[in-house]
Amino acid sequence: MPRFTSVVDALPASVPFVGPEAQERLRERLFKARIGANESVFGPSPEAVAAMAAADVWKYADPENFELKAALAAFHGVAVANIVVGEGIDALLGYLVRLLVAPGTPVVTSHGAYPTFNFHVTGYGGRLEMVPYRDDFEDLEGLLARTQALDAPLVFVANPDNPMGSWHKPARVQGMIEALPDGCVLCLDEAYAEFAPGALAFDVSDPNVIRMRTFSKAYGMAGARVAYAIGHTGLISAFDKVRNHFAMNRAAVAGAMAALADGEWLAQVLGEVAGAKARIGAIAKATGLRALRSATNFVALDCGRDGIFARRVLNGLIARDVFVRMPLVAPQDRCIRVTAGTSGDLDLFEEMLPQALREAGNG
Ligand SMILES: *Cc1c(COP(=O)(O)O)cnc(C)c1O
Repeated sequence: MPRFTSVVDALPASVPFVGPEAQERLRERLFKARIGANESVFGPSPEAVAAMAAADVWKYADPENFELKAALAAFHGVAVANIVVGEGIDALLGYLVRLLVAPGTPVVTSHGAYPTFNFHVTGYGGRLEMVPYRDDFEDLEGLLARTQALDAPLVFVANPDNPMGSWHKPARVQGMIEALPDGCVLCLDEAYAEFAPGALAFDVSDPNVIRMRTFSKAYGMAGARVAYAIGHTGLISAFDKVRNHFAMNRAAVAGAMAALADGEWLAQVLGEVAGAKARIGAIAKATGLRALRSATNFVALDCGRDGIFARRVLNGLIARDVFVRMPLVAPQDRCIRVTAGTSGDLDLFEEMLPQALREAGNG
């Protein structure tokens, strides 16, 4: 056998992310509604599509991603040196962990929060310290207390949160930031920032905070893999030591530039998402389920019992060609998570949800 590192040797062999494609292969049938991965069914801006089609993909992308960084810097009112571009937040999380986490390093996150972060921490041998959610919110005070107690160098918060859709107001996040231990980095995963009612102003003078944004959700470019992080130059420049400099796909970068410039499309998508979320709420209500308030492009629906029941509902929907997901940890796993869909997607969801509930043993 190859001599794997002790860190890799200790990792579980299981595949952490089972995508809808794998489920389709297993079922030998395609899904009819893909409303489980928080992608944007409304797609990217037509300008972005045109820019991607026109890109000279025979060339490597600029390894400094200068033009995209300049556009993002202008958009957010920060300097180019405050931005790093990467192949999705997922990749940027990996680089951040690699910068800060050695085998045995304690890292704090919420139990049941975004699993890709955990995947990277474990992959570099870090020690995950999990704080429970409080009332379906990431518990900022609890996370802070654990971070302080362990003097951890890294703490993760997704705001808005996935999988619950809950959101903390900027002032609350600011309070947490001000109390971070010296040298500790708060990774604020803001994959859903565009859907939220507000956000902290960027303060790139603070080396303790890094903010991650993506073109995968509101901008509808999940398959293109473009995201960025904004932070203090001392932290941002360190990414150059470890990142994959040629990771960006030239078409995706051109698409991201065009998408960023098309505010009209973004506004239209936000309107569509708000409408779809309202309809998901109404469908849930009609079947006796409670929709949690969401600051994202998805809605967590409380199925009213435990995780075993919610799993049965989920499986009933999947069997009826509706791809949805659910939180993995109790008590959040009493919910299923439904992404804003097209009216066709939601027609199918509306038809199948009562059947799935009945089959699961409700009503
Ligand atoms: C979807 C999601 C991501 C993934 O972003 P990419 O840029 O597509 O890698 C990251 N964080 C959270 C919380 C998400 O829900």
